Amino acid sequence: GAPARSAVPAVATPAGLSGREGGEIRITGVSKSFGPFKVLDEVSLTLRAGSVTAIIGQSGSGKSTLLRTINHLERVDSGFIAIDGELIGYRQDGDTLYELKESDILARRVDVGMVFQGFNLFPHLTAIENLVEAPIAVRGLPRAQALAEAHDLLARVGLADKADAYPRQLSGGQQQRVAIARALALRPKVLLFDEPTSALDPELVGEVLDVIKELARSGTTLVIVTHEIGFAREVADQVVFMEGGRILEQGPPSRVLAAPDHPRTREFLAKVL
Ligand code: ADP
Ligand code: MG
Repeated sequence: GAPARSAVPAVATPAGLSGREGGEIRITGVSKSFGPFKVLDEVSLTLRAGSVTAIIGQSGSGKSTLLRTINHLERVDSGFIAIDGELIGYRQDGDTLYELKESDILARRVDVGMVFQGFNLFPHLTAIENLVEAPIAVRGLPRAQALAEAHDLLARVGLADKADAYPRQLSGGQQQRVAIARALALRPKVLLFDEPTSALDPELVGEVLDVIKELARSGTTLVIVTHEIGFAREVADQVVFMEGGRILEQGPPSRVLAAPDHPRTREFLAKVL
């Protein structure tokens, strides 16, 4: 007969708004070229579930490309990336890997949120509408629940009173906080930040970093490309220094930032500090 199935609640409503369990990222021997130019060269890196990793390095070193491979916005030429043991963008059948079809890639991408330098909010939608769209479309939430969660998320980033504001009515720092809340609305296991404060006026950087600091305590795995060395020192469990598509040095901030082994890391830090 049919196998017995235990009843599960139709809608799980975990307390709080933290990300889901898990989020370990394993990057193994990843290489990527654009034409003749090798942008990632045998990159291997493990990020523990719930950890915070800061990626530093000069412009053109491959930081954004590495970040984009983690959610398969960029295909790797060789190597593997797995989140909680599941390959990104591929399924394995015996000895063969098959690239997932676009709809399956999109379904998996729910696990990996991304926040960009330029906010990328929908300009024609209010803050709250920016937050509810994806949970309704992707998580299938009823609108009322999506709205309730969105209000909680806006409160969490300090914008409870801006629900009905359009992006153009918000400062850059406020827009970026809405963008972070929007990424959280899909309850990702992993959140990727690509220079989240680089487009901001200096006086607005702190409010965005404060939100990320708060997130760092929530158990979501965070990967942050940043030039904010002080922030990396304070928040990151692990700092990764990239140059020419390779990881030259990685380790706890107390070592990599304070007493780097590699002369290139020392030169880079001397320039940005
Ligand atoms: P970073 O984020 O560290 O500044 P990127 O990962 O953006 O570095 O880029 C690394 C190198 O790859 C750069 O030289 C850049 O010009 C090149 N690159 C990035 N994306 C593309 C692309 N889509 N096509 C061709 N070259 C690219
Ligand atoms: Mg970049």
